[in-house]
Amino acid sequence: MTDSTKTLCPYCGVGCGLEVLPPAQPGKPINRDSAGTPIWQVRGDRAHPSSQGMVCVKGATIAESLNKDRLLYPMLRDTLTQPFRRITWEEAFDCIVQRMQTVRYTQGPEAICMYGSGQFQTEDYYTAQKLLKGCLGTNNFDANSRLCMSSAVSGYIQSFGADGPPCCYDDLELADCAFLIGTNTAECHPIIFNRLRKYHKQNRHVKMIVVDPRETATAQAADLHLAIRPGTDIDLMNGMAHLLMRWGHFDVSFIDECTANFPAFAQVMQDYTPEMTAQRCGIAVEDLETAARYWGESERVLSLWSMGVNQSSEGTAKVRTLINLHLMTGQIGKPGAGPFSLTGQPNAMGGREAGGLAHLLPGYRVVQNPQHRAELEQFWGLKPGQISPHPGRTAWEMITGLEQGDVGVLWIAATNPAVSMPDLERTKAALKRSPFTIYQDAYFPTETAEYAHLLLPAAQWGEKTGVMTNSERRVTLCQAFRDRPGEAKADWEIFAEVGRRLGFAQQFAFTTSAEVYAEFAQVTRDRPCEMTGLSHERLRVKGPAQWPCRDSGQVKPGEPARLYQELRFHTPDGRARFGAYHSRGLAERPDPEYPLVLTTGRLYGHWHTQTRTGRIEKTRQMHPNPFLEIHPRDASELGLQDKDWVEVRSRRGLARFPVTVTKAIAPGTVFVPMHWGFLWADQAEANALTHPECCPDSKQPELKACAVQLVPIKAG
Ligand code: SF4
Repeated sequence: MTDSTKTLCPYCGVGCGLEVLPPAQPGKPINRDSAGTPIWQVRGDRAHPSSQGMVCVKGATIAESLNKDRLLYPMLRDTLTQPFRRITWEEAFDCIVQRMQTVRYTQGPEAICMYGSGQFQTEDYYTAQKLLKGCLGTNNFDANSRLCMSSAVSGYIQSFGADGPPCCYDDLELADCAFLIGTNTAECHPIIFNRLRKYHKQNRHVKMIVVDPRETATAQAADLHLAIRPGTDIDLMNGMAHLLMRWGHFDVSFIDECTANFPAFAQVMQDYTPEMTAQRCGIAVEDLETAARYWGESERVLSLWSMGVNQSSEGTAKVRTLINLHLMTGQIGKPGAGPFSLTGQPNAMGGREAGGLAHLLPGYRVVQNPQHRAELEQFWGLKPGQISPHPGRTAWEMITGLEQGDVGVLWIAATNPAVSMPDLERTKAALKRSPFTIYQDAYFPTETAEYAHLLLPAAQWGEKTGVMTNSERRVTLCQAFRDRPGEAKADWEIFAEVGRRLGFAQQFAFTTSAEVYAEFAQVTRDRPCEMTGLSHERLRVKGPAQWPCRDSGQVKPGEPARLYQELRFHTPDGRARFGAYHSRGLAERPDPEYPLVLTTGRLYGHWHTQTRTGRIEKTRQMHPNPFLEIHPRDASELGLQDKDWVEVRSRRGLARFPVTVTKAIAPGTVFVPMHWGFLWADQAEANALTHPECCPDSKQPELKACAVQLVPIKAG
């Protein structure tokens, strides 16, 4: 067989198109991994509009992970201290249904929780929402996207009346100024960065501003790097707004005709004088002025952000303050301009569309809207009032629910919270208290499997067909190309089977993922993310497509590449809303006992908790060990030299790292990557140190910063 299969890279939200070929090709040696095992060949799909044939090291090596450490059969144990024993799917389903029914009738549906993943395909997400929120009557479905981009969701909703990034990747090559804040795009979204960097190099007039406490690979490519103190993003952006206002760089007609609440924002920004702002941010006044000048003098300004903004106790306020800059200067709804959030997970966007967070319902609906609930109850054939009006437990609230004994069944799928949650010691202690944890994943072992009673083997990338949406709202059909190992099933198949056995045969009569997607597409009718014009067949034949994509064929000017080209937003009066926020700073500030700010981040070759990249020789060798970056001044004060070891302590836990002494990090701040759980290194968990303080609107934890002390570890 020489035919290639088209699919999407299952790592980050860039969503690069891939072509996959069988290991054996005529006239060529069999493709093998470093252990000699035949593996599928992966190359970039030149026809995919988002990535244009490009692929980074993670996408290029992904096939090697398919054969490693796969969970092949359902396995069960009664207590966490016992070994797992293999069981049949029949026994597994009986066990799940019996547990769920018992909990439902003794503790109520609110004692059932599911924690899913941006790794799901949209069909998995949708089926899970129908099961939990529709049939079981609990909104306790949340996903690891809560840790990743829920602040972007709440920021968009509050400013524009609906979620959804308004821009597209072509804007990278149309902007006159790119403002990157809280995003190490070069390492975390490399193909987006490739497009931006190439355009920036070729067009001398284009300015790139990077805001990051570290001098990352992204910052090194910038015209202006603003190494602000962690937690001063709002100060910086309000200070820029102050200067734009003072210099007359604002769009009066846009503010008048397309927005509301500008006076409240104007009142706030007045306080952010250049001198005060620069002093708070720890930057020069001249650099602040340069940033404001680059923005104000550019015809088209595109801003990009990711975790550095979202993972904050004031994440929504940061997102909205950034959007304010676009609104006051009219930098939205036109080519090369707009606020553009970059998602971390391959289908976090699909999760948003399918309602895959505890406060959402499918089709960009929200739990607290009675009309939205009624629409879905009718569509799903449920009785009125079946969907709970209360938002469900968010990721961290599931942990506190376990602590309080309020959770009877916790179902975790395609994610690894025993590494990725904040305050890991507390997280693990809570997981140990879970009366019954189902863990559905492709791999075994993982850190989270340690806390599971029932393991369910999941089919993964390449073993099931479904759709994913990338950061520019582009939907791609990910086609299966290989047999599933052992008894693995697609996530949606597992959810649907449980739904049928719980008595909802009509609601879960799906036999293929194409049927699931066809139903989901109908749920989006007349919603901002409408995709009634899409189907598996259309995506297979015509290739990836952006939403909105209506079966009526109706398009508004400029759609679907960019939203809001008509300058009408999804608010009741069609106007975008300014937010007015003063900076509150970090939830946990350094003090004499814990004098340094720890910031966490990601590395080019690894992805999240290494469930895949730790099993691939090339990516593992790129970053074999964790480390801590420290400025020479701080290192000298502690008597530390390069490669010395330190114990890092916070109020919650400790971790140990060899140090890298570098001026890339500002004095007073240290950095560690977040990829290492106990499976890959001893006591090197970044999140053993972080805290769970959340943004009050998005409920996204401040995983990016906490206060720590460093204690050198003496050799011998
Ligand atoms: Fe995959 Fe992201 Fe790399 Fe593209 S940039 S190949 S989506 S990891």
